[in-house]
Amino acid sequence: MAYVISDDCVACGTCIGECPAGAISEGDAKYNIDPNACLDCGTCADVCPSGAINPE
Ligand code: SF4
Repeated sequence: MAYVISDDCVACGTCIGECPAGAISEGDAKYNIDPNACLDCGTCADVCPSGAINPE
C-alpha cells in the first residue's frame, strides 16, 4: 500500500517537504509518490490543500 497523487494535484509543493521518507518528487504536471519509499503514514494527504492525495 502506498498513497497516490491524483490529477487534482495543482503542483503547489506543499506535500514534498512534509514526507518523512522523501518519497515525493516533482513531476511534469503534478507531484508523484514513489510507492516503494512510501511509509503509508498519510502525512502528505493531511496537508494537501486540493485533497489530491489518497490511499491507493
Ligand atoms: Fe510520504 Fe507518508 Fe505521503 Fe507516503 S504517506 S508519500 S511516506 S508523507
